[in-house]
Amino acid sequence: MNFPFQGTITAERGRITSQIPQSGGITIITERDTHHYPNGWLYPGFTDTHAHIFGLGARLNGIALYHCKSAEECIDILLTASPTNDSWYVGMGWNQELWNKPEFPDKKILDKYFPNNPVYLSRADGHAAWVNSAALAIANIHSYPTNPHGGSISIDEDGNPTGILIDNAMDLVKKYIPSFSDAEIQKRILSATKQCAAWGLTEVHDMDVHPRYLPFFREMAEAGTLPIRVISYVSAQNDEWDIENLLPAVGEFLQVAGIKFYADGALGSRGAALLEQYSDAKTLGLFLIDAETLYQKAKSGLDSGWQIATHAIGDAANRMVLDVYERLRNEGYKKEEYILRVEHAQIVHPSDYARFNSLGVFAAVQPIHCISDATMAEQRLAERCFYSYPYNSLLKNGTIIGGGSDFPIESGNSIAGLDAFIRRIPFNGSNSWQSHEKISRREALRAYTTHAHYLSGNEYRRGLLDTKFDADFTVLDTNILECAEETIADAQILATYTAGVRRFSNQLL
Ligand SMILES: [Zn+2]
Repeated sequence: MNFPFQGTITAERGRITSQIPQSGGITIITERDTHHYPNGWLYPGFTDTHAHIFGLGARLNGIALYHCKSAEECIDILLTASPTNDSWYVGMGWNQELWNKPEFPDKKILDKYFPNNPVYLSRADGHAAWVNSAALAIANIHSYPTNPHGGSISIDEDGNPTGILIDNAMDLVKKYIPSFSDAEIQKRILSATKQCAAWGLTEVHDMDVHPRYLPFFREMAEAGTLPIRVISYVSAQNDEWDIENLLPAVGEFLQVAGIKFYADGALGSRGAALLEQYSDAKTLGLFLIDAETLYQKAKSGLDSGWQIATHAIGDAANRMVLDVYERLRNEGYKKEEYILRVEHAQIVHPSDYARFNSLGVFAAVQPIHCISDATMAEQRLAERCFYSYPYNSLLKNGTIIGGGSDFPIESGNSIAGLDAFIRRIPFNGSNSWQSHEKISRREALRAYTTHAHYLSGNEYRRGLLDTKFDADFTVLDTNILECAEETIADAQILATYTAGVRRFSNQLL
């Protein structure tokens, strides 16, 4: 690791051409300009290996319910908003676990204020939706509905839908939501990527990208208006990539690299597939795909040149995905050539830790989930928390892990992610949670820099401050390796550079 760096660094045509170490700040010289950061420390550009750019754009420009403390507060926000998609109110971010009364809401309160306009509100984890009767009617969901495979429609004692849809049941309504206009799509992508640069990010691995948005990213990448690099992983659960005849594509600012599957749901909505029942409910969670189908779909993706990224939260889901990946490796899809990733890897049975490394499988993890989920995870998992969010155990077993945030569910601020990796202190808490899984500062920085690029196959050109490497930089006012541990979270992002051009600065210059 050759960072953080102080001294003079020069970039030409987007690559590093020289670096001369010297203590006392940084000077960055590019063809365009020269900037001094007298108290700055230079890092390779931070990369978020799992996030949702379009979701962030929707959050920044739409109805966001993340900070609500009750269903009533959500209603207050909706009442001040205008419909977002034609006559529909589409919002996101509610989380009943944070409410004064931590219970799932129902359609009645929505119906009271929105008897005519359809309302569709996705939960913060994206694995449940809260809808009103108008939306249910459009989707033809009536009493005693049939649950779709991998999803459930909540009903009351009389068999009437309550307005809560879990996992695959969400699509029954979602497919009727009118899409955004071209201008709205561009606005969302631009505002989200600018926010990323302000969070210290120079690259994002963008997950579950709908093929319909790719032309917009491509246009912006070619016009030079994307402030960060975007590596896209296209939705594939329903063969979206294949229907659209997409193929992988490599570019400087946009790389359409992989396809994305879901093995299970999320822990909060008890959709994560567990080996043993939940500690607070008689369920094992939900598989969203079976092993044979995942194997067939992943194999055909690999044959078309895609990287494979599969969401796995529960220990049963992680094991199933590793089994499928093992089968693929055994059939000759070698780790030197074919990238296989597990997204989240939140609960991994200790007997599976070593398989990530032995199979050459990368894990994209989100330390911020760990500190925001801690209380909920205690209820769902009890003693299994010991092997949950097992970052240190994965590292000790040789796994390459990439850091990330899963924004917009959580903030994408890279400093918050580093702090969560290193200190593991839950929101509203003061002690490390499952402290045996804290990781060192060095490993935390690697997960956001050097190692992050293994997950997309770009480690040969990004993630170090070496000559010929891409001139992607994050400038902080803090030496993360040496500052007092409790001050890591206070580090300020002074600037971000992508391809040798300053894309964000906190200075008024
Ligand atoms: Zn995600």
